[in-house]
Amino acid sequence: MTMTPAAKHAQSLLAWYDRHRRVMPWRAPAGERTEPYRVWLSEIMLQQTTVATVGDYFHRFVKRWPTVEALAAAPLDDVLSAWAGLGYYARARNLHAGAKAVVEQHGGQFPEDEAALLALPGIGPYTASAIRAIAFDHPASAVDGNVERVIARLFALKTPLPDVKPEIQARAAALVPSKRAGDYAQAMMDLGATVCTPRSPSCVICPLMAGCAGRKQGIAEELPRRAPKTDKPTRRGVAFVLSNKEGAVLLRKRAPKGLLGGMDEVPSSAWREGKLVVAEALKEAPVPANWKVLEGGVRHTFTHFHLELTIAHAMAATSRLAKLAPGSDWVTLDRLTERALPTVMRKVIAHAVKN
Ligand code: SF4
Repeated sequence: MTMTPAAKHAQSLLAWYDRHRRVMPWRAPAGERTEPYRVWLSEIMLQQTTVATVGDYFHRFVKRWPTVEALAAAPLDDVLSAWAGLGYYARARNLHAGAKAVVEQHGGQFPEDEAALLALPGIGPYTASAIRAIAFDHPASAVDGNVERVIARLFALKTPLPDVKPEIQARAAALVPSKRAGDYAQAMMDLGATVCTPRSPSCVICPLMAGCAGRKQGIAEELPRRAPKTDKPTRRGVAFVLSNKEGAVLLRKRAPKGLLGGMDEVPSSAWREGKLVVAEALKEAPVPANWKVLEGGVRHTFTHFHLELTIAHAMAATSRLAKLAPGSDWVTLDRLTERALPTVMRKVIAHAVKN
């Protein structure tokens, strides 16, 4: 019986995967299925973050919360603190909400059904497919950035991203085999991460070389094409580092929703686009004090904008604590690691301490 091109593709890729699969902290040994909890946790952590960074966080999370029930029972603040440094904190809040939903609505068992997975907080089409394929072996097509690149090259798709996405999705879905769908999904991810890399794809060692149109046309390296990016705006503000005589700094809690929602922060003026007028921004200080503007500042990039913070520092008497806004408290430097403090705020405090 002759094999279809899709069957040949899957066979070559799976044979390669059996020899070259990456060992990952969340992956089950060859031939075993990874628990849905571990697939879900790792996939949420890996959104916007590298495998190398996620490894330690993943170990810490599963050690502290080995099951979805344990994570659901944890206080949100503990989850946010453990997440601090991974960025994109909405993911941590969704993770916690997702764990609660799995426990309350599904008795602690992740659903296999696509619609039920998509109804959970923080799970989009990619994550739902990854869970369905890797944890349950459903022939679901999980297309992340790595897979997107492999497919664009395999079929020499020249339309730029994001317009080409629907075609990539359709082509990828048509290739998924009915057997070993979980291994296939991970094989595609591994191939994109280790062989069909963004720059200089290693076509000579690629198991898909024979059927790759991008390689044949000599355009693999330039695919996928991208529509030109629009520049991110820059917002500016003043961060107010208030210290007391005990060596603590003042932190306050951000509103529960929105950017860095529910995280701790150093109080700051509003973050606005355009030129920063420091004298104006200083009027937004959390308490009246002898604010001294420090040399230099902190720059941080979020998904949709750059942020430049000028740092003002002042000493406060501990007695002022009584007058502070609700949700504010003093935290000594040695206890900062226990707080849900986003990276940008860690940079702000480090800058103030250095100066
Ligand atoms: Fe990527 Fe080259 Fe393999 Fe094509 S042959 S999938 S371009 S590594």
